[in-house]
Amino acid sequence: MAVIGIDLGTTNSLAAYWADGRVHFVCDETGSPLVPSTAAYIPGKGIAVGRKAREHFLAGGEGVSSFKRFMGTKKEYTLGGKTYTPMELSAMVLHKLKEQAEGIFPEGIEEAVITVPAYFNDKQRSDTKKAAQIAGLKVERLINEPSAAALAYRMQYGSGDKSLLVFDFGGGTLDLSCVECFDNVIEITAVAGDNYLGGDDIDRLIAEYGCAQRGLDYSRLGLGEQTELLKRAEEAKCRLGEPGEGELSLTEDLLFEICMPLFARMKELFLHILEDAGLRVSDLDDLIMVGGSSRLSVVKRFLTELLGKEPVVLGDTDLVVAQGAGIYTGIRKRDAGIRDILLTDVCPFTLGVETFRRQGEKKGYLLPMIERNSTLPASRRERLVTLNDYQTAVTVKIYQGEEYFSRDNIYLGEVTAQVAPKKAGKEWIDVYFTYDINGILHVEIVNSKNEHNQILLANQTLGGAELERYKREIEVLMTPPLEQEENQKLLERASAYYEQSTGARRERLGALIQWFLAGMNSGRLYRVRKAAAEMERQLKSLEEADRQREDLLFDGDLKWDLDLEDLEDDDGKDLGNTGD
Ligand code: ADP
Ligand code: MG
Repeated sequence: MAVIGIDLGTTNSLAAYWADGRVHFVCDETGSPLVPSTAAYIPGKGIAVGRKAREHFLAGGEGVSSFKRFMGTKKEYTLGGKTYTPMELSAMVLHKLKEQAEGIFPEGIEEAVITVPAYFNDKQRSDTKKAAQIAGLKVERLINEPSAAALAYRMQYGSGDKSLLVFDFGGGTLDLSCVECFDNVIEITAVAGDNYLGGDDIDRLIAEYGCAQRGLDYSRLGLGEQTELLKRAEEAKCRLGEPGEGELSLTEDLLFEICMPLFARMKELFLHILEDAGLRVSDLDDLIMVGGSSRLSVVKRFLTELLGKEPVVLGDTDLVVAQGAGIYTGIRKRDAGIRDILLTDVCPFTLGVETFRRQGEKKGYLLPMIERNSTLPASRRERLVTLNDYQTAVTVKIYQGEEYFSRDNIYLGEVTAQVAPKKAGKEWIDVYFTYDINGILHVEIVNSKNEHNQILLANQTLGGAELERYKREIEVLMTPPLEQEENQKLLERASAYYEQSTGARRERLGALIQWFLAGMNSGRLYRVRKAAAEMERQLKSLEEADRQREDLLFDGDLKWDLDLEDLEDDDGKDLGNTGD
């Protein structure tokens, strides 16, 4: 069975796989591998994901995008009157990619490798895995986007020792990562970035500039006008590389000017990450341009000036991360063509537990267990003693972050252990932290009686019932359009019958339609299918009855074995549509 690699992006997502010694991309019916990470509600059709959704959304329809920014949070998005978390919306995108990939691998997708930003925390990683689970994908491993880019680089430039800077300039974000490659190891040594610096900002600057040229104030335009203007700005931007004049006569030089404020922020981040990694510009062997916005030649121009040499472009910059994920699937399948490569990572943040120095202290402080920038996998044991006389339990609260007081950090979870009641400080527990390469944190407490209590923090896979519920929901949302169309046709057929009927028959049809609609809107695929099957059966029997009756009228050949009860109250008019 197949293994696919997925770049689950803020703006676009795509899937790739390894075959015949190279990476292939999974393309949609238009031949494009990019699936916009957008979900929309199309009235009468339901939820759509990808290109159609983006078009609907850009035309002012109901839709959501950029939800990856809020991955790991409980933020709620409304679509078609229902609310969804970023995790559920991501599940829809993954489901779409899986469906497309199944076109190539009818035997099914066995496993997926998904890329995530290097700075993603435990919750964000675990929600990404849950999203995959809901979409029906098995995920053994998440890999960091810059590591994937470095893999793609190595395919082209060989596996020598290299200090790389991955410059990933996407739709809404800029992610910089320092990556060291040596032997068969790829290690991220520093990350920096801006969650609000991307192609969208360029579009807005172009739109603002266009407005200013015409003496207009962009911020005073209506939302609809702004959206339309942004759409045109993006089109003009993307057309820059192509021959021919755009609608907004944009030139390279003008765009370079317009982007100056963004370049200034980029330069700051660039200097910051080099400092963090302890590198000088001259230590960098290469800068790899990644992300859709890196297609812009003005960005390349800016980077060339910054580096004093040309950055590396590995083909289509928006495909690089997926390409790396595709290569990694080859490594996972132990394809003879690729060497096994270790993607080690560093932990980009500190993980620790809350402790108190004194009895009665209100604010606990964070005892670091796994320090920021530790190479993964990492583990550590720490012995903690009781704080209060005769306490019978200890609750260990787990946090992520760099702040002194624990409550200023991100709370991840807690685990409790029973302890023998003794004088304060006389009883102890051992706390074990293990943080693995997939960003999964395992915390275990062992008390003096050797009793174990544990919590798994990133890998919290969804429990049976919860998973089933999510799966059913996503299945309904993802009911193939064909099925939706068929259901629509059923409804039309039933409505036509309803209009033609009177009396008890009309009433029965009315009840049937109502029941059918309730099934359609139930949010449960099995109910949708059941309602459709029942409607089909009822309509068939009605149509059959009509045909029989027509036979009766024209042939005089009575068929009394048929139950014509339904027709009793009919007014006897021609029912039409009797088929041939
Ligand atoms: P993400 O990683 O954020 O999901 P991508 O890497 O796919 O996103 O980048 C999307 C961004 O790339 C969008 O802002 C889009 O306008 C921009 N983009 C795509 N193609 C081009 C192009 N030919 N020229 C300039 N920008 C482009
Ligand atoms: Mg990306």
